[in-house]
Amino acid sequence: MLEVSDLSVRYGRHVALEKVSLEVRTGEIVVVLGANGAGKTTLLKALAGLVPAEEGSRMMLGDKALHTLPPHKIVEAGLALVPEGRHLFGTLTVAENLSLGAFLPKAREKAEANLDFVYSIFPKLKERQPQLAGTMSGGEQQMVAIARALMTCPKVLLLDEPSLGLSPLMTMELFKALPRIAASGISILVVEQNTKQSLAIADRGYLLEKGNVIGHGAAEELLKSEDVQKAYLGL
Ligand code: ATP
Repeated sequence: MLEVSDLSVRYGRHVALEKVSLEVRTGEIVVVLGANGAGKTTLLKALAGLVPAEEGSRMMLGDKALHTLPPHKIVEAGLALVPEGRHLFGTLTVAENLSLGAFLPKAREKAEANLDFVYSIFPKLKERQPQLAGTMSGGEQQMVAIARALMTCPKVLLLDEPSLGLSPLMTMELFKALPRIAASGISILVVEQNTKQSLAIADRGYLLEKGNVIGHGAAEELLKSEDVQKAYLGL
């Protein structure tokens, strides 16, 4: 589904990503783990077309070359980014935020069915439709942000540290929704510092260090790996 090869990004002389390669198959949940500054956000921004990739970088969604497209065409191709900090419209209601997700013609056609799907994933949002998004808790706001991204009819959902600032309990509630989204055939690429909880719901994981992929494998194996335990779990 999503295939990234030799993705490099520079900010001036600083190399933020160096020939990163990874793939996310249909309906798979893949987590990219890395410390602060490892390049996680840059990876998602490059995929979404928000920072330029170096010559030679390839990002394919099926047979579509994303690296040749501007950001709005990347959304149209089926990639939806939920950025760190969520970027909701705080003075609009939950329902209004969601309807803004269905801005593309293709998504508008399917808005009603999509809304049913989104409310089946996050029943809490159905109850809170008239609530102003800015008055919701951090975890609830993250649900709205993911739900809004789902309203764009994505093939791949990109999540930037969805657990940031959430309690372990809230994170668990949020992460429980991800396998149900993936079961509908949507692939999920999530970048996280929360190693244990994200690997628990992921199929596979990649380890990113200083802009380089230094390892990857099945989530279960990474959880058991001594290197991961030392570097990311403080064990
Ligand atoms: P965090 O978990 O702290 O958000 P991250 O893994 O998402 O970190 P990035 O935000 O991708 O890391 O940053 C990777 C590196 O690139 C860092 O060293 C950062 O300082 C640098 N960087 C990011 N954005 C810019 C920018 N606009 N200009 C210059 N350097 C940048």
